[in-house]
Amino acid sequence: MLLREQMFWSSGAALRISASKELNSRIDLETSFLSAHAANIAQGAKKENTERQASTIMMDKSEKIFVAGYRGLVGSALIRRLEGQGFNNLPKRDRAQLDLANESAVAKFFLNEKPAVVIFAAAKVGGIKANNDFPVEFLLDNLRIQNNVIHAAHKAGVRKFLFLGSSCIYPRDAPQPIPETALLSGPLEPTNEAYAVAKIAGIKLCQAYAREYSANFISAMPTNLYGPNDNFDLLTSHVLAALLRKAHEAKTRGVRELVVWGSGNPRREFLHVDDLASACLFLLERYDSPEVINVGYGEDISIRELAELICDVIGFDGDLAWDATKPDGMQRKLLDVSKLHELGWHPTISLRDGIAQTYDWFLKNLRS
Ligand code: NDP
Repeated sequence: MLLREQMFWSSGAALRISASKELNSRIDLETSFLSAHAANIAQGAKKENTERQASTIMMDKSEKIFVAGYRGLVGSALIRRLEGQGFNNLPKRDRAQLDLANESAVAKFFLNEKPAVVIFAAAKVGGIKANNDFPVEFLLDNLRIQNNVIHAAHKAGVRKFLFLGSSCIYPRDAPQPIPETALLSGPLEPTNEAYAVAKIAGIKLCQAYAREYSANFISAMPTNLYGPNDNFDLLTSHVLAALLRKAHEAKTRGVRELVVWGSGNPRREFLHVDDLASACLFLLERYDSPEVINVGYGEDISIRELAELICDVIGFDGDLAWDATKPDGMQRKLLDVSKLHELGWHPTISLRDGIAQTYDWFLKNLRS
């Protein structure tokens, strides 16, 4: 599965090819946006989203919900959950049908479709190497797509918007478990700074719409995720998916030793993406504050324990070897989820069950 890598390179090329084309339409759009914006302020249109309900709003099954990035790990889990619960008005657009970096196309889509609810699960994502090597693309593409979608959602009168960030928005030396109040309290981890800065800008833009226009735009920060549709490409995948694939290959090839990067000591938290989807729907119905809220499993595990668990689930009974020449990264990364727990949401999928379910999906989708 080289999808992420291909996506990265193809979007980089598209960015260059379409740069001059975009410039002209961008100037027109910016001019019309600025005049419309000035007119809105003059007419007191600031109040257009002021009817924000503070209490729980249960979503109607026919309510139009747009999941941006619906083919990704998170987006596909959201669609599974929404469809599983009977939601039947879910306009779907992949990148070929709607490039979220194209401002005028996004504006047109929102004005035509007028979704009531938006979940923003689209992003240019990648591992440390891609983040570190291509900060321009990570910053610019993410700023573009989120600015386009957030602004268009506001113009179209979307009643609820959920922006998904990431735990990497928090400072490198944040206290553990990381509380929401750690945001902007210190320097970021340099290797993914560009991505984190873009995500922080998205949070701030949602908060600005909430403050200036009383928009009900909220932001959730998920921890490390895994599950069906994860990226199993060893060059670009995250640790759990990479270990799962390596253990599977070691087992099927009859290899006796599985080499794992680092010392195995760092601790990480993992949430099944179906639990994240459940938390997102919970937040859409029960959370109306522009303050960010963490979404995590609430417990962490060492990479060594994770590798042993994965080998056990997969049935690889060889030895683990640790490649200490590879970096460990942060020693611990665990989100403080007490705010979400106090609201009444808890995860339901144990790490063992989640890994087993993901491995089933991996086996079924191996050939594709
Ligand atoms: P994926 O890469 O799996 O999915 C991202 C989706 O965004 C893809 O469907 C992709 O489309 C789409 N997309 C990107 N750029 C564009 C564009 N210009 N136009 C249209 N669609 C676009 O990412 P995840 O599902 O893992 O991540 C989703 C969100 O969740 C991100 O904000 C991420 O930060 C957050 N998150 C993820 C975590 C994780 O462990 N995975 C952890 C914490 C947060 P296409 O299919 O065409 O490439």
